[in-house]
Amino acid sequence: SGAQAQGKELVVATDTAFVPFEFKQGNTYVGFDVDLWAAIAKELNLKYKLQPMDFNGIIPGLQTKNIDAALAGITIRDDRKKVIDFSDPYYESGLAILVGEKNTDIKDAKSLSGKTVAVKTGTATVDFLKAQVPDAKLKLFPNIDNAYLELATGRVDAAVHDTPNVQYYANTAGKGRVKVVGSVKSGDFYGIAFPKGSELVPQVNKALAALKANGQYDAIYEKWFGKKP
Ligand code: GLN
Repeated sequence: SGAQAQGKELVVATDTAFVPFEFKQGNTYVGFDVDLWAAIAKELNLKYKLQPMDFNGIIPGLQTKNIDAALAGITIRDDRKKVIDFSDPYYESGLAILVGEKNTDIKDAKSLSGKTVAVKTGTATVDFLKAQVPDAKLKLFPNIDNAYLELATGRVDAAVHDTPNVQYYANTAGKGRVKVVGSVKSGDFYGIAFPKGSELVPQVNKALAALKANGQYDAIYEKWFGKKP
């Protein structure tokens, strides 16, 4: 078994913009997910091409099998497990709030009530806010960089997205203009996603375990996030 996956060039989707998991640097995509998949593919002797796409298109692309695998900081959820398969968890995450540098009135999920909040289409954040802060006014963007730009230029009150992405942005491109004011959710886990029933799932889980055991996972982690706390 495994002959099929090894024999062809796999199409592996990533997000177009999700620092520091996948983002464009010059003409190539770099990031934690990009490095992690490269290490897995080497371990399993897989050929592949990366296909960056809007997050919102990834799960449908897996369902129609136009994509063989996807790494996009995809949160493992029971509703998604009904339509796609996930690898074992590879990264622990959560959601955080980003506001303008001078903002003083937003500090937790509750304080987003009545505020205009920039979020990314199709993500777990949208479902979370609709359930927890139903009267927040959500402004949807397919690309989170545009949501952050909207915040930095003062056209929304806050942006909410995955904690590692929010923190990385606040420390790099958004430095001096925006700040992280609170984690609103923790205990989410990212998984590599596959079409239902993909033969790759058990192979990738084995490779992931091997990379965790031999230190390669930690090396990739430290490259993008620094030493583990
Ligand atoms: N973790 C978020 C989700 O699964 C999406 C992260 C991203 O924007 N790539 O909904």
